[in-house]
Amino acid sequence: MFAFVIGAFVGLVSGLAFGGPPGAATPKAAAQSEDGSSDLSSESSLASGSSEPMTAEQAKAIGANEMGQVLVVMYHLIDSEEADWTRTPEHFREDIALLKSEGYYPINARDLASGNIDIPAGESPVLITFDDSSPGQYRILDDGSVDPDSAVGILQAAVEEGDWASRASFFPLLDVVPKERELFGQPERQQEKLRNLIEWGYEVGSHTVTHLNLKEASTGEATKQLAESQATLEDLIGGGYAVTTLSIPFGEYPEEESLIASGEYEGTSYEYNAGLALGTTPSASPFSSAFRPLHIPRVRGSDPYLGEAIQYLKENPELRYVSDGDPTTVSAPAELPAKLGKLRDDLGRPVVRY
Ligand SMILES: [Zn+2]
Repeated sequence: MFAFVIGAFVGLVSGLAFGGPPGAATPKAAAQSEDGSSDLSSESSLASGSSEPMTAEQAKAIGANEMGQVLVVMYHLIDSEEADWTRTPEHFREDIALLKSEGYYPINARDLASGNIDIPAGESPVLITFDDSSPGQYRILDDGSVDPDSAVGILQAAVEEGDWASRASFFPLLDVVPKERELFGQPERQQEKLRNLIEWGYEVGSHTVTHLNLKEASTGEATKQLAESQATLEDLIGGGYAVTTLSIPFGEYPEEESLIASGEYEGTSYEYNAGLALGTTPSASPFSSAFRPLHIPRVRGSDPYLGEAIQYLKENPELRYVSDGDPTTVSAPAELPAKLGKLRDDLGRPVVRY
């Protein structure tokens, strides 16, 4: 048994482009992370790990496999009648309870993209995403409290019960019919909601302005909406918050995919380092050569899809991402199933194999 550590300080000096296009670690992008740890090159991220370096013995005892696959779940409407794209509050509550009991712990999309997976040792990450900003995702009651039957209310209750964090990624729309799907409805509360989500630890990303089909749109219209949605959300949220992730409407990609990663429209430039797509499988680990940051597959948060995905990783434990508890170190068994791909050689952080 042996451990080796590579590139521990390469990231510190190079500024580290890992996690997406150059600029992913710009001061703007780093400024709003919860504790600075999403900036892989910052000293604080190295300091946030345990004071003693992870050893192969520890990683083995934990059963850590940070080359394993990551579950990503996609929700749309949260409302009283279960339907194809609607989850009831009761079922959503059960989904969260099931994820918790199966050893999952939430992360945000930006953390998956950057490899900043900061969850307890032995737990598996789950990225929960919400598209289309319907009121049932986040409703504020007349007395100012969060509706306990809205998704945010259910998530916040899960946090209070323990073993869960205020993390999930919301991809709201800005100009759409029905109007109640613009920024979670409740027009007078829109900015407050966006700011609350960020303050509590959730993420807000773009879903374009109008739910644009990027495959059918002209390049001009696509770049316009990619730039405007990012700039508008950043303005509304304020405080230097950077929108860095994009949920692809309809899962339809433009012919020229580089349009998504970065571009410019009439003087407003934009950058996205993660694209959330549709899918039926978990995502590859961000540390794997198989990871495709602009094509992160999401399983539907409904029956039978979510249950099947959870069951799949339960029956194939060697494929499942299990954290070593140290977000700065990548731990994995020396022998890995071919399906998990190869360890990336540009990680710029300590690696522990056992
Ligand atoms: Zn959508």
